[in-house]
Amino acid sequence: MCSRFLYHGPKVGKKLHLIAWQDTCLPTCFGGLGIPDMASLTHGFACSFIWRFYNSTSLVSDWFRFRYSSPFKPASTNCSKFWKNICGVARNIKGNIRISVNAKNCSSLSFFWDPWLNNISLADLIPSSPALHGAISDYWNNTWSLPDKIPTEIQQLILAIPFMDINDETITWNGIVKPCFKIFRFNLFVDRQKVPWYKFIWHKRAALRFSSFTWLLVKDGLKLADVLARRNIFIEAICPLCNSVEESGSHVFFQCDYSFAVISHLLPVLDSFLFRPTILQLFDFIDELSIYNKVEKDYCFFVICAAVYFIWKERNNRRFSDSHLTHLELRQNLILAVSRKWSGSKYWERCLSGFFSGSVLAMHFLTVSLLGAFRLAALWFLGDMAGCSFPSC
Ligand SMILES: [Zn+2]
Repeated sequence: MCSRFLYHGPKVGKKLHLIAWQDTCLPTCFGGLGIPDMASLTHGFACSFIWRFYNSTSLVSDWFRFRYSSPFKPASTNCSKFWKNICGVARNIKGNIRISVNAKNCSSLSFFWDPWLNNISLADLIPSSPALHGAISDYWNNTWSLPDKIPTEIQQLILAIPFMDINDETITWNGIVKPCFKIFRFNLFVDRQKVPWYKFIWHKRAALRFSSFTWLLVKDGLKLADVLARRNIFIEAICPLCNSVEESGSHVFFQCDYSFAVISHLLPVLDSFLFRPTILQLFDFIDELSIYNKVEKDYCFFVICAAVYFIWKERNNRRFSDSHLTHLELRQNLILAVSRKWSGSKYWERCLSGFFSGSVLAMHFLTVSLLGAFRLAALWFLGDMAGCSFPSC
């Protein structure tokens, strides 16, 4: 239902969407849209619960401790579903948590189950024995009194564990004293590799509309002729922008004469390209340019994402309606969209002088002036219609 709503709008009906919901819900750095799914939220909540179980005192944690002893103790069959989930998560995050023992928490830490022995628990070293299932304070009263059934080498390990000051942190997460919920949630994706292109699409000044369509393009989620052909869906294969080459993701963005004419006029640095780039090549090229600082690179990425949106819109208009914009008209729309987002920024003047050629700059100011004049005329006309005169009304 969520994927139908995101990709198509209505909740009912069945339409084709090209990206799996599981991939859509990944964090942006792992190639998704950053929508939190129930699995990662549940994992984050479980980690947060375990964290508070050791880091704070409350009646709830005391009750769970009395009932189940420790989250690291294997769940019995008659445990609640909630506690079974907590135990499953605790088993997976044992290596992330480091518990320090002090005079205050030794009465609440399980001697056998909790991982207070340098990230491991006694249960990892010796077989379970009911005689060892008490708290640490049962075996320590200013000095250790360890049962003989614990092997000598493990006793040496226990004796080497220092007792910390009660004011020191009792628990850390990979060295972090105060981890946030996002760190807990992202732990579910710890085995995944970050995608190199996410920072180009989801940078600090990104616009959701433009970045979303660029994300779809990179993930092969736009319904281009070559993408659909891989799923045995065949549409008119010729690119409607240039009417000469077969449509594909790499052609439309930006090997096509039409789309390259749009993007290269906004980013004159692309004139140095010997061959027409794909979008990922374009991102890498901008990223490696030493002449641009971070803001200027973000501006380039923004322009590229905006170009993807407007070119895709033009492609669909040509396929499904009679609308037809020249690359000059499309470029003008693109400039307006970019200026609306960036004109309030203190970097706007710098971007204008650094990137726009003289003709584009003149076109921009002419367009803005014309729009301003049009708005003034419209307000004047509306004022007359209402029986009052502009600008006093
Ligand atoms: Zn084309």
